[in-house]
Amino acid sequence: MISSLLRRFAIVAGLAGMVFSSSCASRHDLGRVIFQEPDYVVREVRVSGRPVLAKRGDEVTLMIVGFSEPGGGTYNIDHPVAGRVLQQKLDRAKSYTFQVYTTDQTRSKNDHIRHAILSKVEDRGTVILDASVCDVHHCPMTFGAAVNVDWWLKSRREQRGLETYHNHGYSLPSCCSGGLVHEWTWHCPRCARTVDGFKSKFEPG
Ligand SMILES: [Zn+2]
Repeated sequence: MISSLLRRFAIVAGLAGMVFSSSCASRHDLGRVIFQEPDYVVREVRVSGRPVLAKRGDEVTLMIVGFSEPGGGTYNIDHPVAGRVLQQKLDRAKSYTFQVYTTDQTRSKNDHIRHAILSKVEDRGTVILDASVCDVHHCPMTFGAAVNVDWWLKSRREQRGLETYHNHGYSLPSCCSGGLVHEWTWHCPRCARTVDGFKSKFEPG
């Protein structure tokens, strides 16, 4: 979990320079608020622009040229789609309309945590990629708050299962979140059921 998070931040840092060097901006507005708490907002945003794809190991990261957080950093867009599918469907030379959810958590004036999660990609009005369908089970998913777990996985087999059934919708404890970071994510009922089957009670030591 720790190395995965570090890798993710390293990828974002590496890609940010590449995107900032482009002069082609995307078109988007603040988006429709779909959930709001005093320190947490989720918006549905439509963005028109060219995709940036980068492969790092088994992961493909997605950014949209010029689609930046209010503070300036380019959004790294989480997606529940296999990397090869993104590479097949998206042409980096073309502009698409992306529907994404952005989340903004404010813990203090200077401490914003923002995420963007892919929902849909359209090419001139035609949906070419629907991220709301689980790519493992091909069934519709719901988008909502991740479920905090009070259990942990014990074995390598379970860890692999967690990667395979990645739309389980659980938020796992991590050193970085300290249990404070909200997350909204995709929930596939069948992924969750499968993970429920091999989860085990956390036993310290
Ligand atoms: Zn699934």
